[in-house]
Amino acid sequence: MSIHVGFIGLGIMGAGMARNILQAGFTLTVFNRTAAKCQPLVDAGATAAADARELAGGCDVIVLCLSDTPDVEAVLFGDDGVAAGARSGTVVVDCSTISPIQSQQFARRLKQQGIDMLDAPVSGGSEGAAKGTLSIMVGGEQQAFDRARPVLDAMGKTVTLVGDHGAGQMVKLVNQVLVAVGMLALGEAFIFAQAGGLDLVKTLKAIENGAAGSWTLSNRGPQLIKRDWRPGFMIDLQQKDLRLVLETARSLNVPMLGSGMVSQLYAALQQQGHGGEGNHALVRALEHLSGIEVGAS
Ligand code: NAP
Repeated sequence: MSIHVGFIGLGIMGAGMARNILQAGFTLTVFNRTAAKCQPLVDAGATAAADARELAGGCDVIVLCLSDTPDVEAVLFGDDGVAAGARSGTVVVDCSTISPIQSQQFARRLKQQGIDMLDAPVSGGSEGAAKGTLSIMVGGEQQAFDRARPVLDAMGKTVTLVGDHGAGQMVKLVNQVLVAVGMLALGEAFIFAQAGGLDLVKTLKAIENGAAGSWTLSNRGPQLIKRDWRPGFMIDLQQKDLRLVLETARSLNVPMLGSGMVSQLYAALQQQGHGGEGNHALVRALEHLSGIEVGAS
């Protein structure tokens, strides 16, 4: 049986993910709140729907890639939302990073209509979304996972069913602790290198394949050296993830020293109007503290 796929949320991540679904040969219908973002996909062969409800009526698997928990709730359960249009037997694959607890509640609400939901947040940045090499951490039932698997495989290289509803979101938050605290290490290391009079390009080349190598170092290090603050992942969204981490940690009574500190530094950058820049711009907060500017000639 051919799978008709719907995709809602054609932002930095969603645009690349939807394109890979199309290129894998699926019939694709797209919807985006800002309609103009549908056009490149329509030009490539997708159909645009007028709203999420219309999209849902014709699709077997519906992928969402939206900003935050209230956005997913609105798109699923609003008047013109997915639940108003979807048929029983549809699988909703939510690739947004949202609250694990509310994700579980959304799955329960959809199940009452015979709709299966998988929480399927992703990692790998805008580069991974464009190349189809994302890591996708999935929570939900095995039978729904099996039905959505061909679509997940079109978007990601490492697709892992990690547990029941909400477990995918929880694993994603684990990932975000590593990303956020790693970004602090990146900024601190480059300010230290700059102060030591090193050539930052040669420094990066010398260390990126050693024990300190990481996706962040290889992909965001070069941007940091060029002072290119364009977002792969916006500070505002990184802060949303840190908020989810800290709320979840509080409910579990886990102290999160590194995540808490990084969240405060990002808050300072948001206050200064840098929320739309990439999360590697964390170094700018450290520059203010140290008086040392990375990459300056
Ligand atoms: P983005 O570029 O800001 O895209 C957000 C998308 O959600 C846009 O299509 C936006 O529509 C839509 N949206 C937001 N609120 C909505 C609402 N209330 N109703 C309808 N549509 C709404 O963000 P992104 O970077 O693609 O991130 C999307 C998700 O992926 C987030 O949960 C993020 O945490 C996660 N993520 C991002 C990265 C990354 O590196 N960027 C990596 C892993 C995971 P409009 O176009 O109309 O604004």
